[in-house]
This record gives sequence, C-alpha cells and structure tokens, in this order.
Amino acid sequence: MIDNPPPKTTSTPLLGGASQVFDSPHTVTFWGAARCVTGSMHLVQLGGFRILLDCGVHTGNDRPAITPPLPFPPAKLDAVILSHNHTDHVGRIHELFVEGYSGPVYCTHAAQALLEVQLLNSARIQDQEFAARKSVNLQGTAHRLSTNLARKIVDHCIPQGYEDTVEILPGIGLTLFFSGHILGSAMPVLSFRQGIRDRRLAFTGDIGRSGLPFLKPAQTLPPCDFAICESTYGDRLHDSREQMGEKLAKIFKDTMDRGGKILIPAFSLGRTQAVIHHLRQWMDESVLPLLPIYVDSPLGRSFSFIYRDFPEELAVSEPTTPEADWLHDPEDAQLASNSKESSVIIASGGMLEGGKILKHLRNHIDDPRSSLVLVSYQAPGTLGEKVLEKHPTLTFHGRTWNKWLDVQGVSGFSGHGDQRDLCQAMEPVLEKQGTVQLVHGEKEGMSALSGSLKAMGLKVGRPDVGEVWKLEATQ
Ligand SMILES: [Zn+2]
Repeated sequence: MIDNPPPKTTSTPLLGGASQVFDSPHTVTFWGAARCVTGSMHLVQLGGFRILLDCGVHTGNDRPAITPPLPFPPAKLDAVILSHNHTDHVGRIHELFVEGYSGPVYCTHAAQALLEVQLLNSARIQDQEFAARKSVNLQGTAHRLSTNLARKIVDHCIPQGYEDTVEILPGIGLTLFFSGHILGSAMPVLSFRQGIRDRRLAFTGDIGRSGLPFLKPAQTLPPCDFAICESTYGDRLHDSREQMGEKLAKIFKDTMDRGGKILIPAFSLGRTQAVIHHLRQWMDESVLPLLPIYVDSPLGRSFSFIYRDFPEELAVSEPTTPEADWLHDPEDAQLASNSKESSVIIASGGMLEGGKILKHLRNHIDDPRSSLVLVSYQAPGTLGEKVLEKHPTLTFHGRTWNKWLDVQGVSGFSGHGDQRDLCQAMEPVLEKQGTVQLVHGEKEGMSALSGSLKAMGLKVGRPDVGEVWKLEATQ
C-alpha cells in the first residue's frame, strides 16, 4: 500500500495551476553524479517537501571502498522520481525502503516494467548468495534486496504517461518528457509557484543522441527556470551513422580475413537492443558482411521483450528479440565462443566490470585474429577503460593475460547525446534566462559544455558533492 494520497492527473501543464505558494527557500542538494559520471542522486526541497531525483550507485573510480549510508533520512522523503533504469540512476532504490521510505516512486510505464525485471533478478541473485552464506558482512545483510522487498518497491511505483502532468504534492506538478536514452527514460520537470511566479525545474537524466534512430528522439523541454543537465559527452561530437558503419565495416572485414571473432560488450538494458538493431540494419544494407550474431545476455533478452511491449517509444517497427541468436545456457555460450566460424558475440558487461563478456574475453584475449569492439562509455577505473590502454597485458579474474586481440572503440553507439544534442536540449532554459547545473560528467566534458552553454547566454554551475543550490530565478 502507498501511504501518500493518489496523485491528481491532468493533461495540461501546471502553469498557474499550482494551488500552493511557497515562500521558503527552494533548494537542490547534489548527492551524486556531482563532478563525476555515476551515482545520480539529487535532493530537491520545495517549501517543506523533499523530493529525491534518482537513487543511483557509483561505479568504476567513483565507487567508494565501502558504500556510505544515504546522506539524508529516507523516511522523511515525500516523493522519489526516477529518470530511468540504469543502475547509476536507480541502483540504491531498495536502500530507501530498507531505511524507512514508504512513499511513491514516480516513473514511466516502461520504467516500472523494467524495474520489476531488474529488482526481481537482483533479489534472486542475492537470495542465492545469502543461502550459500556468501553474503555475510553486516552491511550487505542490512541492505539485502529480498523478493518481497522487490515486489513492494514495484507496488509503490506510480507510472505516468509522457507529457501528462501529475500534482504529486500540494502545489507541485510533475511532467515526464521522453529523453531518447533507453526505453522508459524520462526528463522529469517539476512545476511550482515561487512568490507570484510559476517556476519549472528540469532534470535531464541521461539524454539520447540524435542521428542514430532506434528509439524516438528526445522531446523538447518546456521553457524552464532551472535545469540539472548531464554532461557525459559535453566535449565531443559523435560520429555519424555513416562514419560508424564505415568503421565497423573495416573491423568486420579485417577480423573475418583473420578468421577471428568480434566480441561486443554491451549493457543489458539499452545498448544490447540498439546494437542488435543497428548491426542487423547495416547487414541488410550490405554495409556490413553477413555474420551470425550471438547474444549472451539473459537479462538483455528479458529487457528486449519489454522493448516490444512499448513500440510507441521506438523509431523502428520491427521487433528486436528474434533478430539474433540468444544463447540460453552456458553450454551454448561456450560452443558459440569456441566455434571456428567468424561471428559476432554480444555479451553483457558494458564496461567489462562483470557480466558474460568476461568469459568470452578470457577465451579470445590472446587470439590476435579476434577483435573486441567497445560501444559504450568506459568510466575511469573500469576494466573497459584499462583494456583501451595501449598495454600488452590485462589483469582480471586473478591473473594477467596477454592482450593480443585487436581492441577498438566505436563511440557513436552511445546512448548519450553529444555537445550539440546537450546544447539543443538546454535551449528552453535560455527562453527564461535560467540557470543550468551540470552533473554526470568528467572534468573535460563539463568544462567544454559549460563554455558552450555560457556562449549561448546561460548561467552555468558545476556543483560539488553536498553542494546546495538555492533556486533563485532572475525573472
Ligand atoms: Zn543511463
């Protein structure tokens, strides 16, 4: 049961419709993805209400040796809003409920469906580990995600359609806009009254790239006074679809000529589905040679079925599931990995931080005929970043391996927009001469994007962890 009253829904934006005027200061405190890329978590205080945007984990170099407790009392939150389902945005959500939160979780319909699969899968794994007494440290036990807790969290989700405005708390409206990043990804916009003015605070979550249609493009935000904007690729422009096709064609041809395999690590959610789609399309267009595509990603397969349930978010009409040979068990995966034929193996573990890809990498890392193609952002400190270094060896799974396979990065697959996409997304903030706070980026990306946004005429900040932003509009 949800303790808060059910929200009111309206199809018109809450402009001037707010019933309550807040005079006390409004603030945002940045608790994650501040001057780094992962751990998205921002606490919005509007009057006396406390609203959490995302609740993600840190990965790679951002990950502390011991996960610190949540920096606020979850029981005192009034609402939680999820931008999308990647773990750096949602991975700590169960901790909120373990520590006393019992309110609503606002997200899109697809995000709720994906969350159910994610949480139940995590609970199953943790149940197995717990039963095997592998998970004996106290902290792990205290934050264990049980199947019951997973179901409770999903029951607390209140899904809402894109562009519908819901009054989630007295005088506070929430509208979700599609961000084009993964299925169900949203840019939440909070609307509220400040003095005699109506204000909007937008949070981009992660914004998808343009020019590589698989999902529909990001929607345009309404004019906003305040925005929290990601900056992952704020310092670069992505390759075009044609450039990516040409680059992959060379990798495919060279690998086939050598008689090797093409390994592609991909996140189960989002990247796997997009990579299958684009490879198939390029093969249909004869840009790429026709090769078998095997996919070793059980969770990716579950997510692909959910993609088919929400065709309205896709820019393409064909289903993604039957387009590849999904490897259902470890024996099939081993056979595909050891076969003599040239083939593509897409496997879970986008940054090589675990997942099925490591098994295939072990099989082929010292095979100079094969190629490893990285199609995702590689966070600092991850094995994915290390494998890109020009170093003849790579250490993982307790030993050092000769790195003789060819390693290539193809960045254009990114689910994140480039500098041009991000600047375009922030144009509605310019309309109200608003302020943008950059999060979810490394120093170089933030710095370059900050310069571009300032050149557009925007006020731009780059908050530190724990920094409090007072929402003070100029108009
Ligand atoms: Zn994401």
